[in-house]
Amino acid sequence: MQTEYEVIVIGEGPAGMSASLFLKRANINVLMIEKGIPGGKLIWTSQVENYPGFRKNSGVELATIMHQQIKDEKVKRVRDEVIDIVREKDGNFKVTGKKNEYTTQYVIFAAGSNVRSLGVPGENEFKSKGLSYCALCEGNLYSNEKVVVIGGGTSGFEEGLYLSKICKGVTLISRSPQYKAPKILVEKAKNTPNMTIMNNKIIKEFIGDAFLEGVVIEDKITGEVETIPTHGCFIYIGFDPTTNMLAKYGVLDEKGYIYVDDSRETNVPGLYAVGDCVHKTTRQVITAVADGVVAAVAITRKL
Ligand SMILES: Cc1cc2nc3c(=O)[nH]c(=O)nc-3n(C[C@H](O)[C@H](O)[C@H](O)COP(=O)(O)OP(=O)(O)OC[C@H]3O[C@@H](n4cnc5c(N)ncnc54)[C@H](O)[C@@H]3O)c2cc1C
Repeated sequence: MQTEYEVIVIGEGPAGMSASLFLKRANINVLMIEKGIPGGKLIWTSQVENYPGFRKNSGVELATIMHQQIKDEKVKRVRDEVIDIVREKDGNFKVTGKKNEYTTQYVIFAAGSNVRSLGVPGENEFKSKGLSYCALCEGNLYSNEKVVVIGGGTSGFEEGLYLSKICKGVTLISRSPQYKAPKILVEKAKNTPNMTIMNNKIIKEFIGDAFLEGVVIEDKITGEVETIPTHGCFIYIGFDPTTNMLAKYGVLDEKGYIYVDDSRETNVPGLYAVGDCVHKTTRQVITAVADGVVAAVAITRKL
């Protein structure tokens, strides 16, 4: 089969953008497919302080710079949501989107991950009515109020610190006795006067009428139940990869992350995966960007 593209990159986050940049600069016929706004999870990130060469700026700024580079290189891009990837008998791929079908010799899957939900009563009801997954996007709505952040990992602490600068107060709630965030962030939070950290708490329910009015929590040790009054609550409890469409190839670990080799190729020849959707230990912008480059260079050598 004659394919339309040599490579299709699925996802326009940091991993997908770095892969496309390297492919286009190697004169490869590449198409990027993105279902939403380019930039991936960077656009929800209030501040990026750990990407070398980029100091204390917002994720949106970093995403904009990366995206401008893609546009300057004239990488071909379409807005579509990929729903299936099929490897044909001749080794080429048919990529099916909600709007169109595309054919290609190689696929780089860079679809990242989605926010995980708590699955407790009231969560669906109060989404966008006080419950949010993005401090950068919606923090300003609560500038004169006390907000709650759920999650004791890096994102919870990072975003809690950001909110402490724009809101009256922040209560950070963690399920575990220890925090998963780096010590430096935990210390910063502990030294922030308008931040309170609570651990060993289980979220039981979100309550309110038309809008959120409180978060009901239970102490894991004493069993004591209390309600923290708030109109704004931000959830940062982790992410799930969006890889269901690849399950049929047997390339997923038990959590849905994709197994790849050193060149970021899966067990399916020609199908590569990069960034946060890959089975690995560290999910950051720099590791996503590095994955994209490794896959792009490996494919370039084959074409
Ligand atoms: C709140 C927060 C703070 C963070 N802070 C930092 C930090 O300070 N420093 C740092 O290095 N990292 C940070 N990270 C992590 C960093 O954002 C991720 O590691 C990085 O964005 C991963 O890039 P990616 O391209 O693999 O995936 P993503 O950024 O998730 O991008 C994936 C893209 O694929 C698209 N997509 C998904 N499915 C489809 C489909 N079916 N069809 C088409 N398109 C699809 C999505 O819309 C998205 O644009 C933070 C993350 C969060 C959430």
